[in-house]
Amino acid sequence: MNTEFGKTSLLKGEMNFLGRCPACKAVFCAEKATILQKDAQQTLFHIDCVSCKSSSLITLSIGPMHLLTSIIVLTDLHKSDIVSLSKAHAVTSDDVLVLHKYLKSSQSK
Ligand SMILES: [Zn+2]
Repeated sequence: MNTEFGKTSLLKGEMNFLGRCPACKAVFCAEKATILQKDAQQTLFHIDCVSCKSSSLITLSIGPMHLLTSIIVLTDLHKSDIVSLSKAHAVTSDDVLVLHKYLKSSQSK
């Protein structure tokens, strides 16, 4: 079991790309971010907005030419939900895609 889950601190460069809350446009506080998944190309964060208390998922991807792109999605999932999900089995990139699809479909309702 990975006891270090959520304790990983953000790199300075990643903090700059956290952006703003999609709900209230407040600047995200990096201390509220939890890294859910991290590999060489992609980092997935859960972050709570200190201003409006909404939660968002942020995907940072390093593309060609080391271009950093970020995707911010509002979510109903609480951090503890995601932690329990991720403890069920090792998270794969397929899971991230499933999560993105779920978020997309739940937003279009
Ligand atoms: Zn907010």
